[in-house]
Amino acid sequence: MLSCRRCAALVRCRGQVVPGHGAAQAQVMFVGLAPGRFGGDRTGIPFSGDRSGKLLREMIQRSGLRSVFITNVIRCNPKDRRGRNRNPTRREIANCRRYLEAEIGLVKPRLIACLGQVAWRELAGKTAKFRPMSGALLHKENVRLVAMYHPAYINRGNYSECQYLEDFAHLRQLADA
Ligand code: URA
Repeated sequence: MLSCRRCAALVRCRGQVVPGHGAAQAQVMFVGLAPGRFGGDRTGIPFSGDRSGKLLREMIQRSGLRSVFITNVIRCNPKDRRGRNRNPTRREIANCRRYLEAEIGLVKPRLIACLGQVAWRELAGKTAKFRPMSGALLHKENVRLVAMYHPAYINRGNYSECQYLEDFAHLRQLADA
């Protein structure tokens, strides 16, 4: 994974490849979009060193979730010509799918929280409607998927932090059930 060169544009703009990180056998896996340019692209760890990472990790801690694994739909930071974050292309997402599958296979979580629409559609299916805290099954297997807002959505002021904490409390209940 660390030496992957499947996406020419990402090889050019990435600081580094950012694999998933966390407990080897986690209660919950979180799947975001892509490492941020001020976060994982610099630190090598998903959701660390930037505002999204700070909020996600605070929510995990406050909700009392014990063992988590945090990853993304793609493992390189996609930048536009000006060096700003851009959305990954469909091809980039497809190229990275094998790594996401491998991480799911290794960690074997019972519950996966999909942070935002892209992660949700990628795992729940292209036609799955994104509704926060709605659920689905991964490939009809015994892995439960939960749709959650991406922390950047809360940081932009579109959803209250209190409500987000309640969503995490609900996630914790699902994880403990
Ligand atoms: N950092 C990540 O690792 N993923 C995101 O989706 C956003 C920030």
